[in-house]
Amino acid sequence: MAKVSINLATGSVQKEEIIVGIDLGTTNSLVAFINPDGNPQVINDTGKGVLVPSIVHFQKDGGVIVGNDAKEYLITDPENTIFSVKRLLGRSYHDIENQKGLFSYKIIDDNTESLVKIKVGDKFYTPIDLSAMILKELKDRAEHALKTTVNRAVITVPAYFNDSQRQATRDAGKLAGLDVLRIVNEPTAASLAYGIGLNPHEEKTIAVYDLGGGTFDVSILKIQNGIFEVLSTNGDTFLGGDDFDRAIVNYWIEQNKLVETELTPEVQQALRLKAEEAKKALTTQNIYNDFVNEIPCAITKITFQDLILPKVLQTIQCCKNALQDAGLTIDDIQEVVMVGGSTRTPLVKQQVAEFFQKAVHDQINPDEVVALGAAIQSDILAGNRTDILLLDVTPLSLGIETMGGLMDVIIPRNAKVPSKAGRQYTTSVDGQINMKISVYQGERDLVKENRKLAEFDLTGIPAMPAGFPKVDINFLLNADGILTVQAIELRSGVKQHVEVKPTYGLTDDEVEKMLLESIHHAKDDVAQRMIIEARTEGEQMVYTVERFITKNGAYLSEDEINETQNYIAALKEALKSGDKDTIHKKVDELNEYTRPFAERLMDQAISTAMKGKEI
Ligand code: ADP
Ligand code: MG
Repeated sequence: MAKVSINLATGSVQKEEIIVGIDLGTTNSLVAFINPDGNPQVINDTGKGVLVPSIVHFQKDGGVIVGNDAKEYLITDPENTIFSVKRLLGRSYHDIENQKGLFSYKIIDDNTESLVKIKVGDKFYTPIDLSAMILKELKDRAEHALKTTVNRAVITVPAYFNDSQRQATRDAGKLAGLDVLRIVNEPTAASLAYGIGLNPHEEKTIAVYDLGGGTFDVSILKIQNGIFEVLSTNGDTFLGGDDFDRAIVNYWIEQNKLVETELTPEVQQALRLKAEEAKKALTTQNIYNDFVNEIPCAITKITFQDLILPKVLQTIQCCKNALQDAGLTIDDIQEVVMVGGSTRTPLVKQQVAEFFQKAVHDQINPDEVVALGAAIQSDILAGNRTDILLLDVTPLSLGIETMGGLMDVIIPRNAKVPSKAGRQYTTSVDGQINMKISVYQGERDLVKENRKLAEFDLTGIPAMPAGFPKVDINFLLNADGILTVQAIELRSGVKQHVEVKPTYGLTDDEVEKMLLESIHHAKDDVAQRMIIEARTEGEQMVYTVERFITKNGAYLSEDEINETQNYIAALKEALKSGDKDTIHKKVDELNEYTRPFAERLMDQAISTAMKGKEI
């Protein structure tokens, strides 16, 4: 919906700038917008088609081509043809170590914890650079088709993408000249395209089944008050339509008694492309018959289905796992949304419908549905659909390290994003002028079991007695799940902040592992937390009382000082033992014994102050 606004400063009429929705896929990418009728529509830049294969080819003359034209070079010039770059986005070499054999281009291993780089010729590119090239192509196509500049976009990512991968996606957008207004989960976008979740009063649990070219994932979403909560995700990052093509190629090779290694790269590539064509044809017809050079390429729908059934059943197993992880059964799922080009295959639809025991949503083109949903999201952000507010949630808790290495959660797991929360802290030692702030992500009580995101120092706190400074720590988690932490000492106004950009990300398995471990260790954690808290309290008590005696010894008798020292010694002994009940007991005893001193001191101070002020 185009809006017209008037710039009051210049008096000129401005056309509301268009915001596009982008599906940056592993195999294909595409862009959509909201047309003048208010409906989402994919951009078809005349003659070039809707889908842009996510492939970048570096040409000998230094030129770069993206999309269909680049696809031709996959087999003939593999070293200079980059595909599946989404798999590398926001990843460290360490993350992809056991997948590196699957890339025909050169991935650089300089430091296992830093983000990967790709070498083409004598130049290095990051996955962000390469994704930006794909995004730039989409931006150009949109501008060409819409005859206007396009500067703002919503980009989708898989639900299991972590902070680092989301941040990398956002950076790629920036590099392509796009202001990325929001990073949205692909299943969320797909359900929006079907209008699911658009009504803020709607409450639903849905399954989104996404079978693309090289990846499969299924997400269980709970939609409530316009909030999309990811209850679970499951899948296989190496299962997709490519496997179906591969199965057909193998079948033809076998039928024709060929030896694959004896075929030229050109013939291998031609067979692969022919297999994809056959697979697509078999979506609507029962038999396919053609040739590559002299090689007969024939296959029936029935044979094709036999070949791919094991792969399809594998995806069904993932659906089972996802349901189980969400603690749900099939009866709890109200809608099933089909996403990804490979769900066009009738056997896939049929198996999924059979498993969930209900008709699936397949009315919208499955390879366009995510981009269409992203366009709807952009329309919401543009303020054209004021009736809804879309929110996602954060998958892991965020917090800081407090005394004794404990995790103090500031934004809990499953909090809505954007989200803002804060808490006040103070110093534990007299004259403390620095405070180290360590930010962690995870569900365990001890920070060492969680993942460190950042660390910074709040410096320049004026020297004050322990407990005096008031340090406000604020967490701001923006709508993309990117965290900014700010610390401010209120008495002095000293301020520090960091934007948390993890150097390398967690894999979905790691997130799952962290959650499972937190459940598994919940009991140990509570016990350990109680000991640490008791110890921290005890140490603090010793420190406070010792300081009190040094400062105010003059007001106490010698006996009182000696007795206090005895209580302190007993508490110190208990601290060494590490037994929380004993520590608590000794803290209480010391407290009990010394409390009257403080009261006496107070009375003394008051009577001194009152002297000579008689009325
Ligand atoms: P991704 O999200 O991974 O980028 P897509 O959703 O675009 O991928 O899906 C691409 C896959 O869909 C390819 O393997 C392609 O061959 C397959 N595909 C496209 N059209 C059809 C069809 N008519 N029948 C079966 N598979 C199809
Ligand atoms: Mg996709």
